Amino acid sequence: VHNLGKVYTNGSKKLTVLEDISFAVEEGATFSIVGPSGSGKTTLLGLCAGLDQPDSGTVSLCGTEIGSLNEDERAVLRNKNIGFVFQDFQLLPTLTALENVAIPLELQGDKNAMNKAMELLVKVELGDRIHHYPSQLSGGEQQRVALARAFCNNPSVLFADEPTGNLDAETGEKVIQLLFQLNADAGTTLIIVTHDLELAEMTQHILSLKGGRIIANQKTAVL
Ligand code: ATP
Repeated sequence: VHNLGKVYTNGSKKLTVLEDISFAVEEGATFSIVGPSGSGKTTLLGLCAGLDQPDSGTVSLCGTEIGSLNEDERAVLRNKNIGFVFQDFQLLPTLTALENVAIPLELQGDKNAMNKAMELLVKVELGDRIHHYPSQLSGGEQQRVALARAFCNNPSVLFADEPTGNLDAETGEKVIQLLFQLNADAGTTLIIVTHDLELAEMTQHILSLKGGRIIANQKTAVL
């Protein structure tokens, strides 16, 4: 990420939410982004994942500069390389847990989508909830479906926005274990936005934002 900047425009008002952001995340690393509410964490995560476009600066993801791609090429890069876990899960309400996890695979033409989705749901301990709709699942269960969906394409990089934000301590612990297991087993790079400093300290690197600027970028002690 090099000299990144983002400005939101509301009517005639311009709000600079990110300014002069530069950092790098090594392949296979665990990395967290922390900072007060409104400091620009979610905006930064979206820009890093190619979900949104910066107003200045560049982001390279898996060796490709995202800004040099058109919309279709960006979608291909995302589908191939990244998983994204949203703060509010973003499950499709009219699809079951199984269908929610299978759909990205089906869209890529994977004939084995349902079986793979089933395996992933078993991995996140939801093998007995596969036919439940999101409204029939608890918050923690929805978050685990969202994780299974994010894992489905074996991403090189997993972006997670407040993965434990809406969960009780025990369920949050389970989700954290799943994330770090993925990093250990598959070498998936983890980039996590969190308010949970205990979780941040489990990652190898913490980037601290305040008012849209980096105020610290430091390695953490290995626990
Ligand atoms: P939180 O910890 O509360 O989730 P955050 O650090 O993730 O906050 P962002 O969601 O990135 O912060 O928002 C940064 C700033 O940008 C906030 O002041 C927010 O109001 C503003 N903002 C975010 N999205 C938009 C948008 N689409 N249009 C206008 N302003 C926006």
